[in-house]
Parts: sequence; C-alpha cells; structure tokens
Amino acid sequence: MSLSINLGRVRNTVGTTSNYELTTEKFELTDELEVTKPVRISLMVTNNGRILELKGYINTEIEAKCHRCLEPVIIPINTVIEEELVYFADLRYVGDFSEVEVEEKFLVFDNDIFDLTDIFREYIISALPSRILCTEECRGLCVKCGQNLNIKNCDCNTEEIDPRLEILAKLIGTEEV
Ligand SMILES: [Zn+2]
Ligand SMILES: [Zn+2]
Repeated sequence: MSLSINLGRVRNTVGTTSNYELTTEKFELTDELEVTKPVRISLMVTNNGRILELKGYINTEIEAKCHRCLEPVIIPINTVIEEELVYFADLRYVGDFSEVEVEEKFLVFDNDIFDLTDIFREYIISALPSRILCTEECRGLCVKCGQNLNIKNCDCNTEEIDPRLEILAKLIGTEEV
C-alpha cells in the first residue's frame, strides 16, 4: 500500500496546478484502528515558484474501540490537508531555515514520485477525537468481572474504591516485589 503522486509536471512550470484523486480500500493505521470505508483523497498542488502548495481533503471512516467499554465505535473522517512542498535541491532558495525549521514547515521531496502515505496516516490519526467513547454516558466495564455495564449490571461489590487508597495499594504492591 502506497499512495503516491507524480509532481513532475507541476514542478516544472511556475503557476500551474495539478489535481490528484487517490482511492484505496486498504489503509493500515494502527493495531487499534481499522479503516471501514475506502480512503478517498483529493489533492490540488499549485506551483508558486520554489514552493508547491498542496491542499486537499481526506474522506474515510474508522472503526476504533471505546476507551471505556471496548465496543467498536465508527468515526467518519473528513479532514483538510494543507502542506508546503519543496524540491530538495530548491531548499537553499526558499529561505535561511535550520534543518528543524525545514522539517516543521515543509515536506521535502527529491523525486517526482512522492509517497504521501505516512502524511495521510498522520492526518487521519490526528483527526480522531483524543478520547474515543461510544457515548458520553458509557459506563464501561466492571473492573472486577469485566461485564459491560451498558448492557447489564453485575453482582460485584460496586463500592467505590478511594483512588488514594488504590494508589497506596499499588505502592505497597511494588515494594513487596
Ligand atoms: Zn463505551
Ligand atoms: Zn462485575
């Protein structure tokens, strides 16, 4: 799986624009995240002199697990991509940037065929909410028996454990080792 675009034509002529439509059924994210719809990517690259401006969007759907109850959660992804691309040999013309600044500001390519798979992956992952929940009210799993408390209650002693005591218990546990 690799999602590449050919920058050859747009790179050579200032003022031109190239459009790209990419689609893939399979896209590896992480072990916990699965793509459940084809990933569709539309891109427009414009040559503004030394810098190529890339704009576009990614559209797909991700299946993740609820952080509390571990049930699958479907998350639609519609995220905008914006990057500035610079050809490696042109770097010295775009400004006096340190290596770190270049990494922060630009995507540097040294071949007309530019693989953007990792960039797309980053955009998709950062488009996900930081806390994935099936519902805000999700009751999660029983810490003792693992019962999904959204489905039914269990018979475990549900007395709240004082979090401070829990930390203490953990500390004692560590000391015993
Ligand atoms: Zn849940
Ligand atoms: Zn239980």
